[in-house]
Amino acid sequence: MNPATRFPRRTFIAFATLALTALSAQAQASIQAVASFSILGDLVRQVGGDRVQVNVLVGPGSDAHVFQPTPAQARLVGQAQVVFSNGLGFEGWMSRLLKTAGYKGQQVVVSQGIQPIQEAGHKGHKHGGHDHGETDPHAWQSVGNAKVFVKNIAQGLCRADAAGCEVYERNAKAYVAKLEALDSEIRAAWAPIPAAQRKVITSHDAFGYYARDFSVKFLAPQGVSTESEASPKGVARLVRQIKQEQIKALFVESISDPRLIAQIGRETGVKPSGELFSDSLSAADGAAPTYIDMMRFNTRVLTTAVRGE
Ligand code: ZN
Repeated sequence: MNPATRFPRRTFIAFATLALTALSAQAQASIQAVASFSILGDLVRQVGGDRVQVNVLVGPGSDAHVFQPTPAQARLVGQAQVVFSNGLGFEGWMSRLLKTAGYKGQQVVVSQGIQPIQEAGHKGHKHGGHDHGETDPHAWQSVGNAKVFVKNIAQGLCRADAAGCEVYERNAKAYVAKLEALDSEIRAAWAPIPAAQRKVITSHDAFGYYARDFSVKFLAPQGVSTESEASPKGVARLVRQIKQEQIKALFVESISDPRLIAQIGRETGVKPSGELFSDSLSAADGAAPTYIDMMRFNTRVLTTAVRGE
């Protein structure tokens, strides 16, 4: 019995069309790429366009600091021609994953060439009486850094797929122009807000680069990684500071446990203003499905909250 007699004719045509669509989508992409987390996945898609099939390891809403790759993801990495990571210690699990996968393709660390922020003081590791600062990995929170990421992505794709290099360079150039417009837009949004009002509390120290670029002060009970727990002493100090400086903007992050921020809200009488996207995009139908959407969304809710609105 052939499928045409088993199924009504219309169903058979629908199946055939579906199979063809899947085939042509696969045929269009020239190379398989892996991006470590959702924000980077979007940037690789912007540069790669139709030529690149992008697989993201740490998807929307998940925390890359404490990620554990699955065997299926190791297989995906093994089949890729190019793997993109942020670097700066963000993906502590990456080198083991590449080893497990027997990966032999191009490796691109997209933060190469940016000026990293070193976190000094109590959040660094203490060794023999002196403090070692910790590198802040959240470089994408600076739009200027995202431009460097995009250049590194284009170069990496050119190495993996020379035939598409012209396309990648053209896409990168067009996207960098959008990033420059975004940077101006964010500066304009902060411009009317007095420096004394530009203070924000978040779950972990993920906004150091945003703080530097747009002159906003961020305070957090947790350090630059979510791996370390917030100390009760640190939380008590933060509560005092919020009261003293009359900070009104209190946010949870989409990847973080909201309980600590809720507790700080109760102890200070400040109502949490909602959610920020720090280390992850939202799902496709959410508030921040792309990098540009994320930066716009965060800026809108931050500027609204610091005004006490
Ligand atoms: Zn983080």
